[in-house]
Amino acid sequence: MKFYSTKSPDQFVDIKEAVIRSLPADNGLYMPEKINQLSDEFWASWKDMEFAEMGAAVVKTLFADAVPAADLDALVKDALNFEAPTVQLDETTSILELFHGPTLAFKDFGARFMARLMAYLTKDDESDLTVLVATSGDTGGAVADAFLGVEGTRVVILYPKGKVSLLQEKQLTALGGNITALEIDGSFDDCQRMVKAAFLNDEVNETLTSANSINISRLVPQMLYYFDAVRKAGDDLVFVVPSGNFGNLTAALIATQMGMPVKHFVAATNANDVVPQYLDSGDYQPRPSVPTISNAMDVGAPSNFARMEEIYGNSWEDMKANISGYTYNDEQTREAIRAVKERYGYTIDPHGAVGWLAAEAWKSEHPGDHTVILETAHPSKFIDIMEEELGAGSVEIPERLAILAEREKVATPMAPDEAALAEWLKENL
Ligand SMILES: *Cc1c(COP(=O)(O)O)cnc(C)c1O
Repeated sequence: MKFYSTKSPDQFVDIKEAVIRSLPADNGLYMPEKINQLSDEFWASWKDMEFAEMGAAVVKTLFADAVPAADLDALVKDALNFEAPTVQLDETTSILELFHGPTLAFKDFGARFMARLMAYLTKDDESDLTVLVATSGDTGGAVADAFLGVEGTRVVILYPKGKVSLLQEKQLTALGGNITALEIDGSFDDCQRMVKAAFLNDEVNETLTSANSINISRLVPQMLYYFDAVRKAGDDLVFVVPSGNFGNLTAALIATQMGMPVKHFVAATNANDVVPQYLDSGDYQPRPSVPTISNAMDVGAPSNFARMEEIYGNSWEDMKANISGYTYNDEQTREAIRAVKERYGYTIDPHGAVGWLAAEAWKSEHPGDHTVILETAHPSKFIDIMEEELGAGSVEIPERLAILAEREKVATPMAPDEAALAEWLKENL
């Protein structure tokens, strides 16, 4: 199995290059040369396997011979040491809870697999690996946790000052060890632009690797909870995906290309609605992000859009036939948090709440459809907003987060400037 860049479809690299270098020199995104189909043998037994075992079977099929099967098996099983349970709200609405990993967000799936795969692929290398990552909230925490204490690695996180929640910030800045946080006086898009520039800068990019959802290895384990939901609930589900960089949705699209049956996808966004607008008009207009209360989705130029276009052969009609877009503002999101609590007694976080609104909209047009809403983070990560809507003490903070809250924040302030990052990297690596 080789990988190509979306901008150079006829040039191929091996898995180590695709995973460690992450971003091709031509500024495209890596894709597998071919999406392998799951075998009849898999479909005959997929419902009987343990979650991690089924996951390993999918990953082995996708990566084929790029990594020896026994090694992949061990990597997947080690990464997937927590479940993705489904909670039924009513007959046609389920919540797929993706927050049972160590940092309480779905990004743990991708980050844990990626960290293990990177350590595996570089185990014989001489120089240490520096993982450079921009985060709008949850990515940094998940990546930091996944790499914390992994020998031969270091993580440098860029996050937008004042635009992540207090607890999210602690997850980025209070770990210590091989984790360093840079507090950027700008937006998430500034952070993302600075990281991209560093990767294209030959003076500093030698030992840098990326952990944003541009990294193909992050998408791979994110396919697995879709498979799990489908095998439990049937092949006519409508998945509702709260989206920012669209890695989660792109993973689902790859899963369908491997043969996973699904009825439809709903992309739910906050005010950063570039993709719903594209689905509406056929016109793709990335623009600066605006801050919202579902901050992990504050993305104005979704990096996985190029992969989505690639998957649909650049056909707007084909993408539109599979994916519908809905968008909601903060006020609607807050109302939804209260409505879900009142109606079902369920506490949903702001990202999931955007998804719930989209599911309701979909069902009003398609009565009887079974929607599965991805709950992408635990509500305690957004405790301020939750308490504003549901009252003080309404959300319990899980112990693994409460411990971090007590620790001291350590971060280096930095201007939103590519040159400042390059300078810092030269001095500190
Ligand atoms: C990252 C994130 C999202 C958006 O996922 P993408 O793959 O970037 O579309 C949604 N919700 C939460 C809580 C997240 O952390």
